Amino acid sequence: MDLMETKIEYLKGVGPERSRLLKEELNIKTFQDLLHFFPNRYIDRSQFHPINKLPQNNSEVQVKGKITNIQYVQQKRGKRLIASFEDETGCIDLVWFRGYKWIQESLRLNQSYVVFGKINWFKNQASIPHPEMELENDFMKGVKAAFYPIYPSTDKLINKGISQRVIQKIVAGLLQAKKKDFSETLPHYLLEHFKLISKKEALFQVHYPSNQNLLGRAQARLKFEEFFYMQMQLIIKNLQRKQKIKGHVFSKVGSYFHIFFNKHLPFSLTEAQKRVVKEIRNDLGSGRQMNRLLQGDVGSGKTIVALLSMIISIDNDFQATLVAPTEILAQQHNQSLKKLLKGTFIKISLLTGSTTKKDRALIHASLENGDLNILIGTHAVFEEKVKFKNLGLAIIDEQHRFGVAQRARLWRKNQIPPHVLVMTATPIPRTLAMSIYGDLDVSVIDTLPPGRKPIKTIHRYDKNRLRIFGFIKDQIKLGRQIYFVYPLIEESEKLDYKDLMDGYESISRSFPTPEYQISILHGKMKSEDKAYEMERFIKGKTKIMVATTVIEVGVNIPNASVMVIESAERFGLSQLHQLRGRVGRGSDQSYCILMSGSKLSEGAKTRLQTMVKSQDGFEIAEVDLRLRGPGNLMGTQQSGVLELKIADLIKDSTLLKAARETSKEILNNDPELKNAENQVIKRTISALSIDSNIWNFIS
Ligand code: ADP
Ligand code: MG
Repeated sequence: MDLMETKIEYLKGVGPERSRLLKEELNIKTFQDLLHFFPNRYIDRSQFHPINKLPQNNSEVQVKGKITNIQYVQQKRGKRLIASFEDETGCIDLVWFRGYKWIQESLRLNQSYVVFGKINWFKNQASIPHPEMELENDFMKGVKAAFYPIYPSTDKLINKGISQRVIQKIVAGLLQAKKKDFSETLPHYLLEHFKLISKKEALFQVHYPSNQNLLGRAQARLKFEEFFYMQMQLIIKNLQRKQKIKGHVFSKVGSYFHIFFNKHLPFSLTEAQKRVVKEIRNDLGSGRQMNRLLQGDVGSGKTIVALLSMIISIDNDFQATLVAPTEILAQQHNQSLKKLLKGTFIKISLLTGSTTKKDRALIHASLENGDLNILIGTHAVFEEKVKFKNLGLAIIDEQHRFGVAQRARLWRKNQIPPHVLVMTATPIPRTLAMSIYGDLDVSVIDTLPPGRKPIKTIHRYDKNRLRIFGFIKDQIKLGRQIYFVYPLIEESEKLDYKDLMDGYESISRSFPTPEYQISILHGKMKSEDKAYEMERFIKGKTKIMVATTVIEVGVNIPNASVMVIESAERFGLSQLHQLRGRVGRGSDQSYCILMSGSKLSEGAKTRLQTMVKSQDGFEIAEVDLRLRGPGNLMGTQQSGVLELKIADLIKDSTLLKAARETSKEILNNDPELKNAENQVIKRTISALSIDSNIWNFIS
């Protein structure tokens, strides 16, 4: 067995009990795990805080001095042990609430200690609860390093006596004992090219840095390695996937396409749309299954790209389906595609949860005998009883609402799976896309159709509501329509519903009938009522639409040019951006008004400012990523990309790019990693795939 796979139980100072705790709390099982358990901070060992100059906050400090007195103090909440601790400048208390008997016995009066811990301030008196301490003599004899590491830990570990000092000692012991066994994990030519230090030196320096410079180099080396193997594995998986999964060959672009393109297309495509259609067309003809993500900001014109792709499918005698996340969206797609296809012989139907039994039977029949060319729908399309004669292409709009599992179900319906195109209006930052999808094919529509006016976005506090209402009345006089959107967050659905209703009442008071007609739309309404209200608004019968985020995606009403977002501080950035995309679809100047309370968190401020400043979905996505971290961005939860141990997707994006380019180049030149110089890569990858808890990426 590889030495690095040895259980830490057998390490000096560990034993069964501690090894169990370390496994449970930090998932550290083997030598390998422990060596790759990296400090998240360092303390400069040579620096001691004078007690009279301790920072006036709760930061961690290192002080040197003597215990002058030890006593028990009885308080309401129980007994505590207090040691008075002095240096030349002043005195603080060291305090213990638990384990005091053992501590009291081990403390020595009037001997020099080095103490480390978090300061606690109470009435201008500083204390350090449960400090870590060591006699100065022992401290000096310890590992010779300028800094010492602070590791991520948990309350439970600390309570069970596994302090920073204990972890430090265990790691130091392992480093010392096994230093002959650390093997290099990157090929020599990469170390040289990127001027990286060796694995062995990096491990020593990252745990016990000799100086800031070497620490930086150790971190760079380890981060590069982490990114490099992440990319290697992703790219290899993708290459394998592409080889494995056969796809229908759409060999021609035929008469349906040509007729539509020349006679029915109402505008000319933007360059970006042309490029993307070409990319899709190439995939469809390749003989391998297409698995492509189409990213394009709201309003960038993804629908027409979807339609053209579906027409190629029909030209090749295959059916196609377009699946939307909500009923309203599916209806809209159905309407707008029907309009575009008017005068062609392409047959299209809509299937949703509220399709009548009779219509449903007709749709099922025409799908099975192949009469129906395009099925538009909601997830009802995925139901087992919906059977296509020959589904060639499945397009999924706004993918984040759908689980991957649902997509997979579509595939199982045929021997050869349909091509899959996933469209999303939520731009995924490049760095994140690279890490999650590796080499998954991504197409980007990065320009908007010509003639769009930027949406004027402003932020106003609730107390200025009357002024806003005045502005809205002016806009209505000009013939425009208005959205008022209220947050809907599942955990507090009841409260949100109340907010919505209160808002509706107050808007009704300020915009009284018969002069103003108001529609209301929320998730609790029956779908026919929703459709009815939507219809009234689309036809211009009502001027104001008060709604929750059910109108979030895709709704296209060019005359609605003002969007008021209530409690905007409660929305996430990508949602705000999506909502704003509902306006600015016609030729009039559009507005987005972000209403908020006056007390805003830092995060909320940044979000609102970003919205006011930028309309670029990619830029907004980058800010979102920075604010929330990759873990909370949609679609990343299952990806394992969050399990990076030392590298940071955002801060280390340059390294990520370098690692990605390098991986690609290596696999290009040596796809099976046969070259002698690449054997170390091959070995490392196979070791990593056994120890899958670290490198558990999506398939
Ligand atoms: P999204 O990408 O948000 O789904 P849509 O496909 O709904 O965007 O397109 C938004 C609007 O832009 C639609 O009204 C559509 O007809 C129009 N549009 C799309 N492409 C073009 C183009 N090349 N030139 C002019 N208008 C276009
Ligand atoms: Mg759309």
